[in-house]
Amino acid sequence: MADDRTRWTDRTGVFDLLTNETRVGIVAELAARLGDDRDGRDLSFSELRRRVEGRETGNFSYHLEPLEGTLVERTERGTYRLTERGAYLASVLAAGFYEEHELRTVAKEVGPCPECDEPLECRHENGLLRIACANDHAAAQILMPRSQLERRSADELVTAATAVAHYHTSLVRRGVCPLCHGTTEGTLEEGPAERPHVTYRCRHCGVAGFGAPGVFLLDHPAVVAFLHEHGIDAREIPPWSPLLADGGSVDSTVVSRDPPRLRCRVRLEGDELQLGFDVAAGRTRLEGPAGESAGDDGGGNGG
Ligand SMILES: [Zn+2]
Ligand SMILES: [Zn+2]
Repeated sequence: MADDRTRWTDRTGVFDLLTNETRVGIVAELAARLGDDRDGRDLSFSELRRRVEGRETGNFSYHLEPLEGTLVERTERGTYRLTERGAYLASVLAAGFYEEHELRTVAKEVGPCPECDEPLECRHENGLLRIACANDHAAAQILMPRSQLERRSADELVTAATAVAHYHTSLVRRGVCPLCHGTTEGTLEEGPAERPHVTYRCRHCGVAGFGAPGVFLLDHPAVVAFLHEHGIDAREIPPWSPLLADGGSVDSTVVSRDPPRLRCRVRLEGDELQLGFDVAAGRTRLEGPAGESAGDDGGGNGG
């Protein structure tokens, strides 16, 4: 990891590519074309210059040249379009992750706090949707750019946050960082009310995902089927209150600290499902009542 971090100082070139408004304007104008059909994605040199210089005057060719090959590509027809990497960077710019904005309450009473039972509130703060109670127990934090606050209702934001959180927990448990695609590693910690808490951290960029063990089981086929039989769609369960809102529970017992292993019992309406959860390898397996292995979801990061 230290080597990776050192190499970051060699990667400032991407910032040089966007040091002025003409360059950002080129990326923005080409990004605006991405929604069009494939043939309509390109702009000719003169059309691109006309659009960009309408926004900002500058030495157009001087600024276009360094973008070619990385953010912008020239097609066989001599027109210009964003590369896939350019489109990725444009989406980060368009989202407005780094704009200053005020704290805003998005929704009140989105569930009970797992720690103290007070109602959880959803607030937007520093580019994050933060789900916490009045006692400041943070139940979840989900990256959400300000641009989405203006485009979605409160309910739609909570639904979007749930979908994003499911995607993130599923990936980190399977050993993949959702941001840089580096390898993640799981550890077992003591969470609220001395219950086990699982954290996955990316070895490459350091980004982490954390939560109660139940959060990381919601994409296991056995759990999905078990909940489905009880009329519950696992994908719609908010990660800040897994199963609790529907009167069920997930109890987790530590089987081993090194390597970190849990036994989890999902209980709902008198039925029970038992799973072994190998936290370090991100592997979950279905267990019978005596703890024998009865299946594997094949996840894991090979370590
Ligand atoms: Zn609380
Ligand atoms: Zn990462």
